[in-house]
Amino acid sequence: MLEHLRHITQEVNLASDMQESLRIMVQQVCSVLKVEVCSVYLADYNSHQFTLVATEGLNPKAIGVVRLGFTEGLVGLVAQREEPINLQDVSRHPNYLYFPQAGEEQFASFLGVPVIHQRKVLGVLVIQQKASRKFSNNEETFLITLSAQIAGAIASAESVSLFSGPAQGLEVRRLEGLPVSTGIAIGAATVVYASADLSSVPDKQITDIEFEVERFQQALRAAQNEVVTMKERMTDLVSQEELALFDAYYKLLSDNSLGNEVVGEIAKGQWAPGALRRVVEKHVGVFESMDDPYLRERASDLKDLARNVLLHLEDNRAERPTLDSESVIVADEITASMLAEIPSEHLLGIVSLHGSPSSHAAIIAKALGIPAVIGFHDIPIHRFEGKHLIIDGYNGHVYLSPSEALEKQYQRLIREEMKLTQELEQQLHQPSITTDDVHYPLFVNIGLMADFEKSVQARADGVGLYRTEIPFLLRERFPSEAEQIQIYRSALEAFRGKSVTIRTLDIGGDKQLPYFPIDEDNPFLGWRGIRVTLDHPEIMLVQVRAILKASFGIQGVRIALPMISTIEEIDAAQRLIRQAYYEVQEENPEAKELLQPPQVGIVLEVPSAIYQIHNITSRVDFISVGSNDLTQYLMAVDRNNAQVSSLFSNFQPALIMALKQICDACDENNTPNYICGEMAGDPIATILLVGLGFKGLSMNARSLPKVKKIINNISQKEAKECLEEVLKMERAKDIHAYLFEKIESKGLGGLIRAGK
Ligand code: PEP
Ligand code: MG
Repeated sequence: MLEHLRHITQEVNLASDMQESLRIMVQQVCSVLKVEVCSVYLADYNSHQFTLVATEGLNPKAIGVVRLGFTEGLVGLVAQREEPINLQDVSRHPNYLYFPQAGEEQFASFLGVPVIHQRKVLGVLVIQQKASRKFSNNEETFLITLSAQIAGAIASAESVSLFSGPAQGLEVRRLEGLPVSTGIAIGAATVVYASADLSSVPDKQITDIEFEVERFQQALRAAQNEVVTMKERMTDLVSQEELALFDAYYKLLSDNSLGNEVVGEIAKGQWAPGALRRVVEKHVGVFESMDDPYLRERASDLKDLARNVLLHLEDNRAERPTLDSESVIVADEITASMLAEIPSEHLLGIVSLHGSPSSHAAIIAKALGIPAVIGFHDIPIHRFEGKHLIIDGYNGHVYLSPSEALEKQYQRLIREEMKLTQELEQQLHQPSITTDDVHYPLFVNIGLMADFEKSVQARADGVGLYRTEIPFLLRERFPSEAEQIQIYRSALEAFRGKSVTIRTLDIGGDKQLPYFPIDEDNPFLGWRGIRVTLDHPEIMLVQVRAILKASFGIQGVRIALPMISTIEEIDAAQRLIRQAYYEVQEENPEAKELLQPPQVGIVLEVPSAIYQIHNITSRVDFISVGSNDLTQYLMAVDRNNAQVSSLFSNFQPALIMALKQICDACDENNTPNYICGEMAGDPIATILLVGLGFKGLSMNARSLPKVKKIINNISQKEAKECLEEVLKMERAKDIHAYLFEKIESKGLGGLIRAGK
């Protein structure tokens, strides 16, 4: 049974034509389960109807003709209940509705199973039989498993169909993802792909076919030569039979095999990497659908060989792809280093198929003020290349080849947004006080050099979080003490006279230094932040010494320790900081008066710290809540996994209760409490944070004017009352809606959604 299932699923997943593959699938189900009818009904959410799209056993003329409303018939009932319905005699069921044009009346027994993808019913899979009998457990589980396995392919085919041609009339081709960075962008898509990732290579049309063929053949020869070298190296290590495998690889890479086919694709005007991807995908599909496990394995060999050819093609490329005009970039997963490489003046918007709103790449997108959306797993990335897109970073929508009318509407929203930004910029020098005169200092989170700009300094009361790993991420080795002094000094100079909180190196998790790889099964629960630097005191000491030396003659420097989960970690880190302080004093006796012992605090982002908050406050000078990781660890939800990102909300009642506990304990012990995660820069959360009594909020510089505007328009009393209301609520979505409405009612809706 398993083998049959695998076979059928494979076929559906590889299909370039969904209609055709569903036709084959229904035939195969009938033959495997020995039933007389198998049909697929797909949901159309515009007309609220199911349509028969494939059948074996019913009249084929009924395909595309038989339609039933979402609540009609047994198919409608299966979808409504979102569970299988297994009936021995359909005619007795009150929902029974038969379609004479399908010739359905002769079939007594019925088993319908919903096809569900990401909680959405996409269709219903049905088997029917003349004889009146209940379908067996085996038949039922077979159909349920099949339905779960083909759901992704059906969802993807639905999205893919949105890509064909421009939108007609009132038609709207919209992909729904998750909002990452607010704002709206309109422009052409450029696909950027990770090096040697064949599956994400986009299609591109070229004109110089001769040049493209030449560079492909060079890459092919280079990959063949590698196989020869590999074979030589293995000669004494493996048997003759096993060595023959290398000959097979060599042949696969020859002109007669892969070579000519790829050249054939190039001759049609496709660039070499795209041609290679097309040919390899076709062959891999054939291998993967084979019954023989040995032959199936060959699919991964072929992918491996093709990756090598691609690597050589990339080596041969005159230059790496750059954005030479304004574009929306589309990537399988946008990484922080990708964003660092692309000149931001050309970057209109970002679409990332994978990732999550709180990933570090997302944080950088927000810092750069670039609208971004994520979460389109099922769409082959190359479909986006060159497409005209609208990115709605408020709602997480991407519009494909939009109609003129829709584009005009969004152009208007962009103009309104620009006007609002200008108005807010003009009010930047106003203090951040509530209507009842309470001052809430607003700090900025920094990391990129651009953050040291004058415009950033002017708007902030200081730096609440300096993510020092960002300069580490952009290098090819650990920066020396002297280099670090220079980096930190420029930040401290830029914000002279204001407090600057420098966080010690927070690597691990999704922040990997290219020169210090950490390979773990569970990186967010592994060697991260303070755990790494305490295990490598030489790294921590160099960094702290550099921070101290950079701060000669400058006051207000604070050090924050990331990922603290135990008291021992605080004690050990403080010992190292003291050691570095005495060393620096000893080395620079003349600078004694210029050097103050730094204030030391923690980034509170691991829930265990909440339960030891009193022990912590007695040891540190301040606490800064890292709401990104605190949400991740409190909710047990990977901040980078789009699949579970609906759980990742800063409005979860559990998180708000946790913040309340932290703030109360800090008040009791007179320890200043700040917040520096993304929640601090979300204007919808501002009322809550003011109500909770944080002593300062730290955010990306672009969010600051909006947050200040909210603070200027509420009183502390009102914020506390709102908090009381929110603490009674049980669901994140209710809390979000309540706060959203509150801001709208003050006429400040333009701060939290598109338009005025
Ligand atoms: C946080 O976790 O909220 C935080 C500020 O740190 P980072 O996002 O850099 O992990
Ligand atoms: Mg963190």
